[in-house]
Amino acid sequence: MAAEDKGVADGIKSFLRQQIASVIHQGTEKLPRISRLYAEARMLNNQVKFLKQELRLLEQRPSYVGVFIRLIERNKALVLVRQRGKYAVNIDRNIDVTMLEPLMRVALRPETYALHVILPRKVDPLVNVLKVENVPDSTYEMIGGLDKQIQEIKEVIELPLKHPELFERLGIAEPKGVLLYGPPGTGKTVVARAVAHHTDCTFIRLSGSELVQKYIGQGAMMVRAVFLMARLHAPSIIFMDEIDSIGSARTGSGSGKGDSEVQRTMLELLNQLDGFEATSRVKVLMATNRVDMLDPALLRPGRIDRKVKFPHPNEQSRLEILNIHARKMNLMRGIDLKKVAEKIKGASGAELKSVCTEAGMFALRERRIHVTQEDFEMAVAKVMKTETKNMSLRKLWN
Ligand code: ATP
Repeated sequence: MAAEDKGVADGIKSFLRQQIASVIHQGTEKLPRISRLYAEARMLNNQVKFLKQELRLLEQRPSYVGVFIRLIERNKALVLVRQRGKYAVNIDRNIDVTMLEPLMRVALRPETYALHVILPRKVDPLVNVLKVENVPDSTYEMIGGLDKQIQEIKEVIELPLKHPELFERLGIAEPKGVLLYGPPGTGKTVVARAVAHHTDCTFIRLSGSELVQKYIGQGAMMVRAVFLMARLHAPSIIFMDEIDSIGSARTGSGSGKGDSEVQRTMLELLNQLDGFEATSRVKVLMATNRVDMLDPALLRPGRIDRKVKFPHPNEQSRLEILNIHARKMNLMRGIDLKKVAEKIKGASGAELKSVCTEAGMFALRERRIHVTQEDFEMAVAKVMKTETKNMSLRKLWN
């Protein structure tokens, strides 16, 4: 009997041993999973903490966005807040003041206006429209037949920037800027860029139509920002293209919201023109195709009181422009560009440029590496054809 009991006990013992071994085995198998779950739990806890912080931030009153202008003291800055004006604000301790540069976007605390975050530059929508270029690489050599115009603009822009003492000695006021007017494609933009190049100026380009169409409600603010930017980057040239979009004569019968917005932009422009000193090393170049439509207020003495006309080039100038644009082309020997210039009467500089490009395209289509007289003739015909479509506009201008 005792031997039988012992056998049973042994059986139970070995059964229990097996059970224990299998539990231990299962335990060790599950261990890595448990530690993975622990890690996951830690990660989720961190996420919860982060989201709670975000929630707290979202519940706070939003910060104002401003534009840093300059340091006043070690921990005080002058900032511009859109539609509110300029403020002198404290700078939070966590900000490294050496990182602050003019025109940087910054966040200001809602209650105290303290500057507490430097915002990334990329997001600033201003940059798209202003197109600041440091000394564009256009030169006077790239411009044909506009010697008189270049000379006049040089006197108004280059001379005062390079030799302000001459004006001082004579006791006459420096001109603030000049209006370039003439039909489309007659070289107003290239001349403006070349002037900036030869005077080592920052070139700030602003298009009137963009101001009106893209930045609705912000036109006046943009004009202010442009003049501010020009002063900060002086010596600089502000080139305002298509100025007729904002500077058309005011009718007085404001027919809607759009009109009053355009007028506000225009008033700000006049304000800025009056406000800046002629000696501030900022010059304004304006360009338009419709000088007849411009508000005379813009052209009053002390504002933009000089005008330079950009007419269609005459035959000699047309030849010069063709020579400039054909300079780098692989031309057949004996090509007579004079004949081309004779034929394409009334063409603008831009059209002469496109004649050269089109002639090159004809050669390319026939897989030739030389451009022939015939290519030029066909190009003239092609450009003149599109030209006649724009005839009514030209008549209007004349
Ligand atoms: P828009 O009034 O339409 O703005 P614009 O008068 O400003 O026209 P530009 O943009 O300066 O004209 O000229 C257009 C193109 O024609 C330029 O790429 C330039 O190379 C060429 N062009 C115009 N006039 C001349 C010129 N006198 N000499 C050389 N190239 C010229």
